[in-house]
Amino acid sequence: MTTAIHQLARIVQAVALAEQPADQVNLVVESISNTMAVDVCSLYLANESSEMMLLASRGLAVGAVRHVKIPPGKGLVGLVAKSRHPVNLADAESHPAYFYIAETEEERFHSFCGVPLVHTGKVIGVLVVQGREIRQFSEEEQGFLVTLAAHLALLLANSPLALGEVADKSSRVSGVGGAAGIGIGHARLCDHGELYAVANAPCGDPSAALRDWHDLLGMVRRELEYEQKLLAGGVSDGVAAIFSAYMLLLSDPAFLGHVEKGILDGNWLPGALRQAIQHFAELFKAMDDPYLQARHEDIHHLGNKLYNAWRGIRPAANSANRSVVLVGAQVSVSEIASVPTGMLEGIICLDGSSMSHTAVLANALGVPAVMGTGPIRNLAEDMLLIVDGNNAQVMLDPGAAVLAEYRKLADDQRYLISRLEALRDLPAHTPDGAQLELYTNTGMLADISPGLANGAQGVGLYRTEIPFMIRNSFPTEEEQVGVYAQVLAAYAGKPVHMRTLDIGGDKTLPYFPVENEENPALGWRGIRFTLDNSQLLMTQVRAMVRASSGLDNLRILLPMVSSTSEIEDFRELLMDAVAQLQSEGHRVNRPALGVMVEVPAAISQIPFWADKIDFLSIGSNDLSQYLLALDRNNPRVAGRYDHVHPAVLLEIHRILQLAAEHRIPVSLCGEMASDPVAVALLMGLGLRTMSMSATKIPRIKWLIRSLPITTAQQLATESLKCMYPADIRLRVEAELLAVGLGDIIKPGSNARRRRT
Ligand code: PEP
Ligand code: MG
Repeated sequence: MTTAIHQLARIVQAVALAEQPADQVNLVVESISNTMAVDVCSLYLANESSEMMLLASRGLAVGAVRHVKIPPGKGLVGLVAKSRHPVNLADAESHPAYFYIAETEEERFHSFCGVPLVHTGKVIGVLVVQGREIRQFSEEEQGFLVTLAAHLALLLANSPLALGEVADKSSRVSGVGGAAGIGIGHARLCDHGELYAVANAPCGDPSAALRDWHDLLGMVRRELEYEQKLLAGGVSDGVAAIFSAYMLLLSDPAFLGHVEKGILDGNWLPGALRQAIQHFAELFKAMDDPYLQARHEDIHHLGNKLYNAWRGIRPAANSANRSVVLVGAQVSVSEIASVPTGMLEGIICLDGSSMSHTAVLANALGVPAVMGTGPIRNLAEDMLLIVDGNNAQVMLDPGAAVLAEYRKLADDQRYLISRLEALRDLPAHTPDGAQLELYTNTGMLADISPGLANGAQGVGLYRTEIPFMIRNSFPTEEEQVGVYAQVLAAYAGKPVHMRTLDIGGDKTLPYFPVENEENPALGWRGIRFTLDNSQLLMTQVRAMVRASSGLDNLRILLPMVSSTSEIEDFRELLMDAVAQLQSEGHRVNRPALGVMVEVPAAISQIPFWADKIDFLSIGSNDLSQYLLALDRNNPRVAGRYDHVHPAVLLEIHRILQLAAEHRIPVSLCGEMASDPVAVALLMGLGLRTMSMSATKIPRIKWLIRSLPITTAQQLATESLKCMYPADIRLRVEAELLAVGLGDIIKPGSNARRRRT
C-alpha cells in the first residue's frame, strides 16, 4: 500500500510539473501503464459537445489518438461518464454497452477498467486501462485508479486540453489581466541580467564593497529620478507612486542592513545583494494576501536594477520609431521608461501577477498589459503582437482579418477612455439625483496618489498592516507617525478611515508569526490579536492620533469585531491614548470610531452599538467568506464563491436597514464595491458610500452616473427574491447593457454598437 501511495504521489507530481498540456496527458498514460503493468492506458477528455475525445493512449493504435470521439453515453467509456462510477470487466466485449471502434484496434484487449475524472461535480474525462488477458482488475488496482483520477481531475481541469482547445496554440497565448485595453505593436524583448542566478563568492575587500554599495544606491536613485521624469508627463500622480515605492525600498534600513551584513560576513556585493533581495521577496511571496504577495515582484525588479547598475549596464536610451510591445520575464520601470510616451502599445510579463507594480504602472500609463503568460514559444524580436488586456490574451503575428478587427476594438477603447477621464471631477450622482460618495482603498504610501488622481473623495480603508509587514520588527511610534501623517496630509479635508492592525488569518508578520492554529480564519486575528497585545495597539493608536493633529480627518476602523466588549475595551484604550497625548502637550482630538461589519455576528448586534460607534464599514470580502464558509483564495472552492449570493445580499440588506434605523452612517470597502453588478445592487439596497482601489473609481462612477436609482432599486428588490447568483447576475447585466453600460461588463461591446 505504501508503494501504491508512493507511486501515486510520483505520478501526480510529474504530471503537475509538466510544462506543456500535451506532455501532461502523455505522462499520465505512460506512467500509469508502467506502474500498473497494463497493456493499454488511455485518457479521454470531454470536449464542448460532451463527446469523449481520446486524447492520449499507450497501447491503442497511434492513429486513433485525437481522432476518436465517442458520442455522449456511448460505449463503455460513455457508461463510465454517465454512471460516474468505475466499470471493471473481465471481458469487455461481452458487455451490452460495448461499442467497437475499428480505428483503435482494441479487439486485442479483453479486460477493461474505466474510472471517471470528476471536477466540481462534472465528469471531465475517463481514464481507462485494458489488458489482453480475460481477468477482472483487482480491488487494489481499481482503488489506485480511482484515487489517481481524483488527483488528475484537479490538475487537468484547468489545462487547455481539458477545455477542448486542441487547436494550434502557437498564435495565441493566455495570461492574467494586468491592465485593460488593446495594444498593437512590435515585440521588444527585455533581456536583463538575472540577480537570482548570482552565486555567493568571497569578498576580497569588504570596506571597498561597502563603498561600492553606497555608490550603487546613489546611482540607482539618480536613475530612478531620471526615469520618473521621462514617464511623468500627464499621469504624474500614478507614476510618482510607483517610484516612491522603489525609493522607499532603497532607503529601508532593514534591507540596507541585510546587504551590509552579507558583505561584512564575507560575501561579495552581488551575492550579498541577491541574499537580501531573495530574503525580502520570499517574505512577501509567502503571504496569502494576493496584493502583498505581488510585492515580491517589486523587490525582485529593484534587485535586478541594482545588479545591472553594478554590472555597468545602463538603462536603454529613450527611443523607438514605431509602436512597441515590451516582453520580458518581468518588465521593469526602466524598460518602460526607455520607450517614448505614445509609442508603448503594450506590456507582456511572462511572470508576474495582476497585482504587480508593473501592472499598476501599466494601468497608470493606460498601457494594456497581460501578465503571467509563462514562456511564449516562437516569439521573436520585432514580431507584430496584439496585447488584449481585456481578455488577458496575446496574439502572435496575427493575420490581416484579426488585425483589422483588433484595430477597430482599439479605436473604440480610446473613445471609452476619453469618456472616463472626463468624469474625474464630476460627482457620483445618479441621473435621477441620488448622491453617492466614492472613496479609495490603500495601504502602501506609494498608493496614496492614484486615489486622488482618480477623484477619490477620501480613503475608505487604509490597511495599516503593510507598514508593519515591510519591516523586521514592530515599527516604533515615531515611524508610524511618519507614515500615517503622509496619508492624512495627502487627503487633508477628506476623511481617512485607518484600520487598526489586522494581522492573523491570511496576513502574518514575519517577525511575529501567529502559529499552530488549526483554523487561522477563526483564530487570533484583527481586534482579537491587538487587544491581547494592547501595548502594540496603544502605540499604533497614539501614532494615528498624533499624526492627525491639526488635520482632524482621521477615523479609526476596527477589524473583525464580533463582541461588544471589544468595542468597549478599544474605546477605553482610545480615551486613554488621547488623554496621554493631551497631557504630553499634543493638540489632538478624539477621532471618530467605527467597526468593520465582516464577522456575521456583528450584524445582529448593530443596535447594541449605536451609542458606542460613529460609523460602520462593511467588509464584504470577509463577510462573504464567513457567511458562505468559502475561502475564495482556495482554488477548489473559488468557483462557488460569489458575493452576489442571495445570502450575502439579504444580510447586507439587513445591515443597511439596521444602520438606517439606528442612524449609523455606513459604507462598504470590500471587493463588491468594484464589481459593477454588485454596485448596482448595493445602490438599490440603499448604500451611498463605497470604497475601492483607485483604478476602479472612474468606471464605477460612470455606472452610478448612468443608472437611475429607481432602476437600481427595482433590481435590488427583484434580486432579494432570487435564489441563484447566476440569475441575479444575468438580470443586472441585462439592465446595465440596456442603459449603455455594456463596456463595463465586457469592454468593447457598447462602443462598437454605438459606432457602427
Ligand atoms: C474585507 O474583509 O472586506 C476587507 C475590506 O478587509 P480585508 O480584505 O483587508 O480583510
Ligand atoms: Mg477583512
